[in-house]
Amino acid sequence: MQSAIVAGGGIGGMAAALALARAGWRVTVCEQAEEITEVGAGLQVSPNASRALRALGVLDAVAEVASRPERAILRDGRTGSTIFTTELGESAVRRWGSPYLHVHRADLLAALSRAAENAGAEVMLGARVRHALDTRDGVAVHLENETRLEADLVIGADGIRSALRRQLNEDEQPRFAGQVAWRGTVPAERLPAGTVRPEATVWAGPKRHLVTYPLRRGALINFVAVEERPEGLSEGWVAPGDPDMLRRAYAGWHPQVEGLLAQVESTFQWGLYDRPEQVTWVKGRIVLIGDAAHPMLPFMAQGAAMALEDAVVLDRCLAAGNVAEALRAFEDIRWRRVTRVQARARANGRLFHKRTLLGRLTSHLPLAALTRALPGLAAGQLDWLYGYDPTI
Ligand SMILES: Cc1cc2nc3c(=O)[nH]c(=O)nc-3n(C[C@H](O)[C@H](O)[C@H](O)COP(=O)(O)OP(=O)(O)OC[C@H]3O[C@@H](n4cnc5c(N)ncnc54)[C@H](O)[C@@H]3O)c2cc1C
Repeated sequence: MQSAIVAGGGIGGMAAALALARAGWRVTVCEQAEEITEVGAGLQVSPNASRALRALGVLDAVAEVASRPERAILRDGRTGSTIFTTELGESAVRRWGSPYLHVHRADLLAALSRAAENAGAEVMLGARVRHALDTRDGVAVHLENETRLEADLVIGADGIRSALRRQLNEDEQPRFAGQVAWRGTVPAERLPAGTVRPEATVWAGPKRHLVTYPLRRGALINFVAVEERPEGLSEGWVAPGDPDMLRRAYAGWHPQVEGLLAQVESTFQWGLYDRPEQVTWVKGRIVLIGDAAHPMLPFMAQGAAMALEDAVVLDRCLAAGNVAEALRAFEDIRWRRVTRVQARARANGRLFHKRTLLGRLTSHLPLAALTRALPGLAAGQLDWLYGYDPTI
């Protein structure tokens, strides 16, 4: 039986552990944290991501606890006027062959880790990977607690601050993108009736935007509020956020935005990072996946989706060849797609944050007119992304 060590028990690591355990590998997940947890916030699971979940055998379990948006809307943050609409719901299933879901991150991670353990994967907690050494006979993994493990394959799914990426790329660091994001949830029952709709809304404004959508079948409203900043968070990647500062940043915005933020009791802030330069994802029998390989701005809601696709494609490549060849094939297949998504995410950031009235008029008005005239056009622009099937 072939063996794999997965560094990191986040969404990407657990998805890879599940895929390989189902394919008959002996899998050990090394997670630095003392328990498997995710932040208290939501995740948009687009049709390409839900197709990956189906391939991993967990789509039904995830869909059971998810919300299903009817549409995604780009609105002016102050006036609330609609700039752009994409129909989701049944239209998404018809067009892209798989549902669009909103899921609580903890629910998704629980479904993946439960399935991975049921398939035989072992999860070691409090196991922080220091480095991995590709030897003639396999890969040796050294943990911070001086434990040494061996396997035929090592998957670096250790996130944006990946120790394994630094090892493979001479200390390369992700680049601060000049933006921070507040994230959190508000109980839907605290909001006025009629304002909680099964929609993902991007409220766009100068130098900032806010994304809102329901979670847990409408019981919670998730928000992601992004603001441009010249400098990152002094505390590092993630830090507690101040709800009053958040409210001040969106003062004077549409009453629905102010009403939602008025209910925020606690929030966290993330510095947003990107990695435009080329890095190596593969060395011998070591491979990077998810944010460790390709951190991206969240403006296409695709970081976790790419990690899930990575897991399915990696499993497919490993089924076809020896480990080193399979990893090179994986990098070839994934590179072009992930780079395209990263570029689109950056472009969306620029569209959401138009600074001047003229900028907004020249980009938002034509978009609004175009979606009214050709409603299918927006959906068609997403076929390459949402229609992708990682199993073929
Ligand atoms: C504001 C925001 C909104 C987003 N919204 C969406 C969205 O709607 N849809 C979407 O698809 N994506 C979204 N993303 C992106 C998504 O969150 C990430 O791409 C995804 O979580 C990456 O998963 P991962 O498993 O690669 O990394 P992570 O989730 O970071 O997991 C890495 C794991 O590795 C562990 N670890 C780290 N170092 C070590 C080590 N040395 N040894 C052992 N364990 C280690 C960590 O503890 C963690 O458990 C968003 C991101 C942000 C910032």
